[in-house]
Amino acid sequence: MRRADTWLMLVVGALAVFVGIQVAGAPRVAPSVAPPSPAESASVAARPNVPKPSTNSGAAPSADAELTVTHDNTEAPARNLDEIHARIAAATDTYMADMLADMDQTLVRWPDLRERGLRIWVQSMTTVPDWDLRYAQMARDAFSEWTSAGIPTRFDFVLDSATSDVRIVWIDRFPPMDGLRVGSTRRAVDQNGWLARAEIVIAVHDSAGRAIPPAALAGIVRHEAGHALGLGHSANQHTLMYPIALEDEITPLDRATLRLLYDLPPGRVR
Ligand SMILES: [Zn+2]
Repeated sequence: MRRADTWLMLVVGALAVFVGIQVAGAPRVAPSVAPPSPAESASVAARPNVPKPSTNSGAAPSADAELTVTHDNTEAPARNLDEIHARIAAATDTYMADMLADMDQTLVRWPDLRERGLRIWVQSMTTVPDWDLRYAQMARDAFSEWTSAGIPTRFDFVLDSATSDVRIVWIDRFPPMDGLRVGSTRRAVDQNGWLARAEIVIAVHDSAGRAIPPAALAGIVRHEAGHALGLGHSANQHTLMYPIALEDEITPLDRATLRLLYDLPPGRVR
C-alpha cells in the first residue's frame, strides 16, 4: 500500500464514514518487473514504445488498482447468483475468472449512464517536465476507445474536475517505493458494488527517469481506464489488462470481459 493510500484510509477511517479495503493485485508496471519468458522478451524488444527494463531492483510494488468502499443510499441491484455463475462459466471468450480472483470475487461497475454520461476530467495543464499538451487529447482518445466494448455508458469529457466522476492526472514519476509503477487507479465503490468515482494517475517518466513515449503512455491510460471502468487484471499476457505493460491496445478479450461485466449486476459473486 502506498503511503498516500495509508494516509487516505486513516482519514477515512477516522471519519467513520467509509470502510477502506484494498484489493490486492499485481501492479501495472514496466515489463521488467518479472523475469520475462523468451516470448515476452521478444515482444518487448520488438516494441520500442514499451518502457525498457530498468535497473531498479525495488521490491514488488503494490497493486495499481485500489478499491475503497463507501456507504451510499443506492439500492442493491436484483441478483440471481446461479444465473451470474452460469453467465460467467459460459463466457469462455473473457478473462472474468482471472479478474474475479484479482478482485476478491467481487464485480464493480458504473451504473448505466446512457443519458447523463460518465464525466471524465483530464488534467490539461501541469508543470511536469516533458509533459505535452497533446497528451491530454491522447488520454481522452485512449479512454474513449473503451466505448468500442459496447457498454451502456457514454463518456463526457468535462472541464470541471470538482463535478467529475473520473479524474486523470499526471505526475513526473512514482516514488521509488512503488518500484516500476507507471500508472495507478483508485476507485471508490458503494456497498452495492456501484462505482462512485475513480482517480487515475499517470507518470510521464518511468522509474529510471526516462520519458515514456506517447504510444506507451496511451497504453497505460487505456489500462488504467479499464480499471476505472471496473476491470481487474487478466492473467493473459496478450491482453491490455495484464498487469505488466506488454500489450498497449484493447484486445477482443478485454472488450468481451468489459461487456460481460456490464451485462451483470455488481457485487460479490461467491
Ligand atoms: Zn493494473
